[in-house]
Amino acid sequence: MAAAPALKHWRTTLERVEKFVSPLYFTDCNLRGRLFGASCPVAALSSFLTPERLPYQEAVQQDFRPAQVGDRFGPTWWAGPAGPRDLTIPEAWVGQEVHLCWESDGEGLVWREGEPVQGLTKEGEKTSYVLTDRLGEGDPRRLTLYVEVACNGLLGAGKGSMIAAPDPEKMFQLSRAELAVFHRDVHNLLVDLELLLGIAKGLGKDSQRSFQALYTANQMVNVCNPAQPETFPVAQALASRFFGQRGGESQHTIHATGHCHIDTAWLWPFKETVRKCARSWVTALQLMERNPEFIFACSQAQQLEWVKSHYPGLYSRLQEFASRGQFVPVGGTWVEMDGNLPSGEAMVRQFLQGQNFFLQEFGKMCSEFWLPDTFGYSAQLPQIMRGCGIRHFLTQKLSWNLVNSFPHHTFFWEGLDGSHVLVHFPPGDSYGMQGSVEEVLNTVANNRDKGRANHSAFLFGFGDGGGGPTQTMLDRLKRLSNTDGLPRVQLSSPRQLFSALESGSGQLCTWVGELFLELHNGTYTTHAQIKKGNRECERILHDVELLSSLALARNAQFLYPAAQLQHLWRLLLLNQFHDVVTGSCIQMVAEDAMRHYEDIRSHGNTLLSNAAAALCAGEPGPEGLLIVNTLPWKRTEVMALPKPGGAHSLALVTVPSMGYAPVPAPTLLQPLLPQQPVFVVQETDGSVTLDNGIIRVRLDPTGRLTSLVLVASGREAIAEGAVGNQFVLFDDVPLYWDAWDVMDYHLENTVWPVLGQPGTLAVGTKGGLRGSAWFLLQISPNSRLSQEVMLDVGCPYVRFHTEVHWHEAHKFLKVEFPARVRSSQATYEIQFGHLQRPTHYNTSWDWARFEVWAHRWMDLSEHGFGLALLNDCKYGASVRGSILSLSLLRAPKAPDATADMGRHEFTYALMPHKGESPATSWSAFSLSSPAVVLETVKQAESSPQSRSLVLRLYESHGSHADCCLHLSLLVQEAILCDLLERPDPAGHLPLQDNRLKLTFSPFQVLTLLLVLQPLPH
Ligand SMILES: [Zn+2]
Repeated sequence: MAAAPALKHWRTTLERVEKFVSPLYFTDCNLRGRLFGASCPVAALSSFLTPERLPYQEAVQQDFRPAQVGDRFGPTWWAGPAGPRDLTIPEAWVGQEVHLCWESDGEGLVWREGEPVQGLTKEGEKTSYVLTDRLGEGDPRRLTLYVEVACNGLLGAGKGSMIAAPDPEKMFQLSRAELAVFHRDVHNLLVDLELLLGIAKGLGKDSQRSFQALYTANQMVNVCNPAQPETFPVAQALASRFFGQRGGESQHTIHATGHCHIDTAWLWPFKETVRKCARSWVTALQLMERNPEFIFACSQAQQLEWVKSHYPGLYSRLQEFASRGQFVPVGGTWVEMDGNLPSGEAMVRQFLQGQNFFLQEFGKMCSEFWLPDTFGYSAQLPQIMRGCGIRHFLTQKLSWNLVNSFPHHTFFWEGLDGSHVLVHFPPGDSYGMQGSVEEVLNTVANNRDKGRANHSAFLFGFGDGGGGPTQTMLDRLKRLSNTDGLPRVQLSSPRQLFSALESGSGQLCTWVGELFLELHNGTYTTHAQIKKGNRECERILHDVELLSSLALARNAQFLYPAAQLQHLWRLLLLNQFHDVVTGSCIQMVAEDAMRHYEDIRSHGNTLLSNAAAALCAGEPGPEGLLIVNTLPWKRTEVMALPKPGGAHSLALVTVPSMGYAPVPAPTLLQPLLPQQPVFVVQETDGSVTLDNGIIRVRLDPTGRLTSLVLVASGREAIAEGAVGNQFVLFDDVPLYWDAWDVMDYHLENTVWPVLGQPGTLAVGTKGGLRGSAWFLLQISPNSRLSQEVMLDVGCPYVRFHTEVHWHEAHKFLKVEFPARVRSSQATYEIQFGHLQRPTHYNTSWDWARFEVWAHRWMDLSEHGFGLALLNDCKYGASVRGSILSLSLLRAPKAPDATADMGRHEFTYALMPHKGESPATSWSAFSLSSPAVVLETVKQAESSPQSRSLVLRLYESHGSHADCCLHLSLLVQEAILCDLLERPDPAGHLPLQDNRLKLTFSPFQVLTLLLVLQPLPH
């Protein structure tokens, strides 16, 4: 008989219920202590250790030795498959649910009858494997399992802290291995009581519903005797009555989607990610089997491809659940790439490779771009998404902004060219929810678009290192499906979420331009060699595709290397993952990335030679050499040509756009020389002047730039009384995220201009076709730099070829150029175009962009004159006032203590120019409009055997442009298509005299499909 109602004290009532479910207190008599019943240790435990990641079939053949609970496995990155063989479930447990309880600080994967069945990860709250839901009379009670234990945790093996470099000596312990009876009815009551506590706390004392929740929980404790399971149904009925009280029609709807963010490499190597995918996804499949309404969103084609080749059985089950709509491939990209650094073409390829994979393997392309965790979003992404069949975008990283809180969670995003996509940031500001009441309430409270959007995403499941959802999370969310006082919770797919958002999108606001993350700005610079590999490999693949396409068009014997190119592109795309190209990874990953770049370089160069040979067959120049120009404009440049014996000689060569020309014979050189060769003069004070008649450069005796004059106008580009090419060393100690962050205060911290010794500047090349001067600079006691400043005949820019030996800790090296130019906006190249950012710190949105990213150039211009700073492999930049600054090297110590230490080689260049657009004065494209750039020429994806080419062009000035594309190849048909190369039904273009008329809007990207005429054999 329950006691009569009495006055209840809020705190004691709340804490009474908390103690009833506590895993820490009173477990001898509370409900939690009854979650598991009888148990028995696992007998016949055996194991072996290996430094390799062995496939299952090999692992089970190894020599297993007896093992026991308490054993330690290691060191880091080894694997310790353990086999509880001949498990015997006690006969007395018939009728009960039986679990294998397993706790180890290394991630585990259970194998049963040759197939993976479940992940076991303590940090991911997966410490038991259900052997049977209900042990039947005649069920076999003996079985053999294998648990593959990885010697790393969910987030790697950092020494002392998560992002510290991994501890190579770390050992991992097995702390529990037993069979136990699991009480499902106790579990269900615990879920209900925890939710009621969450509601009581979350809604607070001002809410009637909060008291109803608390008193329901209290009454449940009153009627429930943990030692008498027959009392449980009464308690359960009280909970059901509460949760069955429905909300109103205007309730906010939360779309809960299972997810598991797996970083493709980060605090662990690529190879471990393969196993993380298996551990996480097989667990998700098991949950799908038990919960037919559970929907799990999974991104990154590369990870699916890994599972396809390493775990074919698991993969075919994934495909089966995909066809049922429970396993939902999302994202459309090859990996979740960085949103800033990849080139425009590389971003297109992320989707091209990804969407084609999803179509081929799962029967349809993705309808949303999925990039929860990246460090900023290019203003060209909306156009690229739309061109790849995607209108919806989900992310959340902008919630990490350090300075300004982003004003929306649901909005339209307008890109650089005016394309729109519908964007949603889950308002809970996380992609790893647990299904708690607090998170559900936060999702509603945080939503910045209240009144405009009544639907929110809720991504639940452990993430970053994998893990994913648990049954408990699902039980919570199912219980909260429709309860008065809370939002409605629905297990949904991303497609369902976006169609709900879209149907009520009339009131949504629009955000124009880039989504700049006000954090992690160090990722534009950290790991300079990875950045250099990325830029160089993007260029190599561009060149291979162009020359192979031209060879295909002109040589009937040539086979386009489609399969090799796909392999190399996928390798490049893999390393554009958001913790690899950004440099925020451990040393092992950086080493893998360098090996991948080396593969692309060597295979790419072989393919390049093959294509060039096929293209130029039978056309050797007088020196037996042909020079190929892979850029879409005619170039006249000084080149170093190889001579027998390994030496080089300089020559001035002219090559048409995307074509080739023989090396001119030395006797022909003279007439080619423009009127003025390069003059080099060293003054008695040690300063050096280089002059090619276009620009005049003066260096002081330490190598700094005291003057840069555009000769024709006499216009000086360097600010009065200032010097350019000034190296500056900053203290660079962030708050926590070492490889990621450079903080605003580095600009006011100790700043060391690096000063050289007068007299170190010497003349290098004495003039004529090329003039140069070089110098050495001691940056610090440990680091030094040498630089050759070069000016070529006819060249509008001066180049600074730089070598640095860098051995620093928490220092940031930049080079600065104070310009005699005044403007409130500077221009930075991005994917397929450029954008402006402020040069001042007026508002918090301005100063939060104290360090920004750019691709190949940045520019500061005023009316009629400007100064552009170009680079061959850098991404970090800034313009403060009139000072252009290029970020060169950092020295973070976590998660890779060796990041950036050693030798670096890079080149930047400085170009003063007339007019306001820097891109024009040196990129005169042979099309009729100088605004249009022909970025890519490749074989059409869909038809490896065919003679169809794809051309990608973009408008680069930000103007409406009509242009005429002249084709020297014999073309049958020209059709406009999307970025996935799918022809536009109304896209047939008339060909007249091998010319195509094209129309562009500002920064528009156009893709053309050209069907070539057959070649005579
Ligand atoms: Zn991530």
